[in-house]
Amino acid sequence: MRKQQQRSTGARLGRAEAGRPEQGVVRDAAAQWQPAVAADEEWLQRCRAALLAWFDASARVLPWREDRDPYRIWISEIMLQQTQVRQVLPYYERFLARFPDVAALAAAPLDAVLKAWEGMGYYARARNLHRAAGEIVTRYGGRFPGEAEAVLGLPGIGSYTAAAILSIAFGLPEVVVDGNVVRVITRLTAMAEEARAAAGRKKIEAMAVAFFDPGRPGDFNEAMMELGAVICTPRSPSCDVCPVAGCCAAFREGAPERYPVKSPRRARPHHQIAAALIWREGRLLIARRPEKGLLGGLWEFPGGKQESGESLEQTAVREAAEELGVEIEVAEKYMSVDHAYTHFSITLHLFHCRYLGGSPSCRACSDWRWIAPEQLREYAFPRANGRVIDALLQEKNVLPKI
Ligand code: SF4
Repeated sequence: MRKQQQRSTGARLGRAEAGRPEQGVVRDAAAQWQPAVAADEEWLQRCRAALLAWFDASARVLPWREDRDPYRIWISEIMLQQTQVRQVLPYYERFLARFPDVAALAAAPLDAVLKAWEGMGYYARARNLHRAAGEIVTRYGGRFPGEAEAVLGLPGIGSYTAAAILSIAFGLPEVVVDGNVVRVITRLTAMAEEARAAAGRKKIEAMAVAFFDPGRPGDFNEAMMELGAVICTPRSPSCDVCPVAGCCAAFREGAPERYPVKSPRRARPHHQIAAALIWREGRLLIARRPEKGLLGGLWEFPGGKQESGESLEQTAVREAAEELGVEIEVAEKYMSVDHAYTHFSITLHLFHCRYLGGSPSCRACSDWRWIAPEQLREYAFPRANGRVIDALLQEKNVLPKI
């Protein structure tokens, strides 16, 4: 089976007017950057027609393609950021069953939305969905707006997501340029410039607008993203079955994986995190993170980053005092798990700890609870905690009597 590639964010929205008045601009741009394949109209038309014919015949059947409901498309677009289609599908079905429309999402407590999102990561997306649903209800009477300015004003909707919603749900000529589109375009044109540099992005956007079909905006955008997701994949593009191979400069060169050209990324920092499983009479103390910031609003075992000169045990004790004002002592090490975020990675070390004193109060959290281990699944935790919770629930009869 061909790979399904995640969509990446960070794209730009470009508007192509119906009737192609933008083509003069595009030709100027194409002339300046001298692509390996000349962006002439005959080439563009041939390539565009082949792409759309392929999409008409082979588009994947996906639940958000059943109709043009902007709510359903919006949810899918947010979920597909940083996450692959096959991972999104079960979450999407559950989320839509739980929150079938904007009104249901707006009326739900944030905790319920975070719980429905649990396991997908990037929780800011869920918090922004919830906030945006509230704004759609209060500002637009519950109707998802169909104007670019209004859509871009909603929390969590950037130019890429706005272009996708407006073109797919409303048929507006907005050009999507996501990671898949960048890959396809840089390969079609064998673009030598660094794709993440400002000049490279400008050329890619100019080419995306040139290539765009304002007569079928939603289909065209979906076709480009689909091609990048299932055929023109990063490491092993299936050029032998690609509908646009006949117009592809990278294919002709014989090394499409070279594109897009990227400078090496800096190494991600790695942090050691210590967290305390604080026991009192068979119950565990959990804390809710502040709503703003990384993993905002999620529940966690109190803990934080190891500071210089500190043992991990000392970190756990210090964090419990700083976050909740409780005094604890470490009884024993429980387990460690590794987890990678976008810009850094962590090793999370868990310690079974004895509660010694102090009434919990929120010094650096937004809520706290003493709960039985069986209740852990009722709370939304960051993904890094998933294995810890699984282990605690499996071992509940052999946990230390602290
Ligand atoms: S021919 Fe190969 S490199 Fe070119 S667009 Fe198709 S899959 Fe990508």
